[in-house]
Amino acid sequence: MGLLNTFPLSFKVKGRRVIIVGGADEALNKVRLVAKTTASIEIYSRQIETDFSAFPVAVFERALRAEDVAGAALVFVAEEGADAELAKAEARRLGIPLNVVDVPGECDFYTPSIVDRAPLTVAISTEGDAPVLARLVRAQIEALLAPGVGKIASLAGGLRHRVESLIHDGAARRRYYEALVSSPAVEQAVASSPVAGIAEAEKLLSAHAADGSGQGIVWLIGAGPGAEDLLTLRAQRLLQQADVIVHDQLVPAPVVEMGRRDAEQICVGKARGHHSFSQAQINTLIVRLASEGKKVARLKSGDPMVFGRAGEEIAALRKAGIGYQIVPGVSAALAAAADSTTPVTLRKVSSGFVMATAHGADDGDLAHWAALSQSGLTLALYMGKAIAAEVAGRLVSFGAAPDLPVGIVVNAGRSNRTLYAATLGQLAAGAVDFVDGPAVILVGRAVAEGDWADAADAAANSFKVA
Ligand code: SAH
Repeated sequence: MGLLNTFPLSFKVKGRRVIIVGGADEALNKVRLVAKTTASIEIYSRQIETDFSAFPVAVFERALRAEDVAGAALVFVAEEGADAELAKAEARRLGIPLNVVDVPGECDFYTPSIVDRAPLTVAISTEGDAPVLARLVRAQIEALLAPGVGKIASLAGGLRHRVESLIHDGAARRRYYEALVSSPAVEQAVASSPVAGIAEAEKLLSAHAADGSGQGIVWLIGAGPGAEDLLTLRAQRLLQQADVIVHDQLVPAPVVEMGRRDAEQICVGKARGHHSFSQAQINTLIVRLASEGKKVARLKSGDPMVFGRAGEEIAALRKAGIGYQIVPGVSAALAAAADSTTPVTLRKVSSGFVMATAHGADDGDLAHWAALSQSGLTLALYMGKAIAAEVAGRLVSFGAAPDLPVGIVVNAGRSNRTLYAATLGQLAAGAVDFVDGPAVILVGRAVAEGDWADAADAAANSFKVA
């Protein structure tokens, strides 16, 4: 492993002065950083060109004097000229750490990128010339750390002695802190008030002190339509904390891979054709895993509450007394609307949209089809690709207009999405040879407002709207 030429540390500035020489944007950048602290910031420049008024700083528009530098905790030089030279000379003479913006060779220290969850801070530095890299990493860490984690860190600090007195085993203590930082109840309580946060943390502490094991939890997480960057930040954070990831077939591997590296992965199948796990078996599995004290990410495609069998899983968790949390995701219909630029609601055209299953087309569920056919709303039909022609026929037979526009998006929200466009009548007439992948069928007048110009002509015989 290479040795570092710099040593990252946290420098105390409380009650001290930080001097910034410069009146332009480079100075403002440093102000932004230092203003995260309680230090008093003084800006010196003969020419103040930038507006510093958003920050609590003292601005001196004049030449720098040697005595200005004396006693400062840190000195930043963010301009060139006589004042800059004086500041550097004084800082060096007095042994005050010096940073000269954009001149690494003259710097005693560099400033890191900061993820601020006061009192918790994460500082990211690169030695040398990769500030872009530091910023990228910073964005990733921002996404990982919940906004309230800083408050929870203060809470944990305040509880340290009580935790030590109640839980003697080191590993059990670590489990308590893990539970503390990942508990949605604590996160919510802390956000409402410090007192509520302490109460919730104490509750968790008594539970841990009692059984020592820590409790499992199940997160029902929406993975979105399948692209990694359509996962929510919350989903990503919880996936990073999971001990086990239980996912459906429809969730692509790269999304599952966003979970904690050493988390166990269980695919519970549910692909059309081979039911590797029954719903009852899935219910039993997640209850068992959480009962063992594990944090279970139950990862479902799209949104967990939309055709995700979440109802059954929640009922099983409630019955077993296991905690759960639901994280919404981008449902396939919304990804399909975005891919095809279809406003599913549109003034004077469609006053709403319905997410419905296409099933029932073969078993003749009259109420379902009558309601859908006559709603006048935009329909987003799930699970209908293999029976698309029957679905269209069924809608027409219940009174929908044969010229009603239909758009089908296969692999919505993914880079390999494919669009098809037609009318209900055309779709009912022809068997279409769709590409592989899950699909949403959009039906309604609003669909004609979408951009279907790239729609595949795989079924050019009958299948392209004018
Ligand atoms: N909970 C999911 C739906 C699961 S049911 C959601 O909210 O999206 C499975 C059906 O969802 C599939 O048959 C298909 O109709 C639809 N689906 C899931 N992912 C899709 C995708 N990427 N593109 C198009 N349809 C998709």
